Amino acid sequence: MKKLNLGIVFLLSIAMLAACGSPQNATPSAKSNNGKLQVITTYSILYDIVKNVGGDRVEIHSLAPIGSNPHEYDPLPVDVQKTTDADVVFYNGLNLEAGNSWFDNLMQTAGKSGDDAPVFRLSEGVTPKYLTTKGKESEEDPHAWLDVRNGIKYAENARDALIKVDPEHKETYEQNAKAYIEQLNTLHENAVKQYSLIPKEQRVLVTSEGAFKYFSEAYDFEAGYIWEINSENQGTPEQVSAIVDMINEQKISALFVESSIDPRSMEMVSRETDIPIVGTVFTDSLGKPGEDGDTYIKMMEWNIKTIYEGLTK
Ligand SMILES: [Zn+2]
Repeated sequence: MKKLNLGIVFLLSIAMLAACGSPQNATPSAKSNNGKLQVITTYSILYDIVKNVGGDRVEIHSLAPIGSNPHEYDPLPVDVQKTTDADVVFYNGLNLEAGNSWFDNLMQTAGKSGDDAPVFRLSEGVTPKYLTTKGKESEEDPHAWLDVRNGIKYAENARDALIKVDPEHKETYEQNAKAYIEQLNTLHENAVKQYSLIPKEQRVLVTSEGAFKYFSEAYDFEAGYIWEINSENQGTPEQVSAIVDMINEQKISALFVESSIDPRSMEMVSRETDIPIVGTVFTDSLGKPGEDGDTYIKMMEWNIKTIYEGLTK
């Protein structure tokens, strides 16, 4: 008996050594056969930022589909499988993926909830802004990426995390990030320039969700909304009458609606105030591939143009 047990232990040792030395595990973190880092992002905007930094080294599966609202998402079986297999997971944080605790639950199910799990918050280092709705004042507002300077932080955090998980390709990630951050710096400068051409008293942005706190501070706007954050009661009669009052008092001349939100509440506000909806802006999602706003840079450029034209008509 003793001899047999030792034999099994020996065979197991050989098997384990063989597994460690197989080409599949040459880069310890790359689990797929194509050698690329398997990455999960929670929604399309993070997908694009990580794609720009990771380049050819990463294969990304993004969870909340384009055009949907990442505040609340029901992961599909394929999401659970890919998250389980992933080398690295990126999320926004700041209370974004908090609806129904969908993200925490997914990390638990996929075995990625431990302290040393390769799960990274891209908003790390952003100074949080808080909700203002009564009783919600301790909750962070997630929409940091609408200030491009925060988008730059996201790119830096993605770079540092990819280097941590895949140090062999440090140089690639550094070069990609540098080139991308240069573009983001130009984008921010252009945004400041373009928005400053809108007279100060016209710089009021009314949208369905109050997603423009970080944006408003960066580009000196005032923001109005029907509801403060998605994943709450949306478009209640009280909310609609409050925004209608604000529009009438402040003599607002233009309304906007978001690409990832049902437009009916804003259409109701438009009918009640006789103020037109002048454009669609991107907040929580990119545009569909091949269409307007299909990258982070393009969605921000689209917003700049749409807001400028809408408010200066
Ligand atoms: Zn949102």
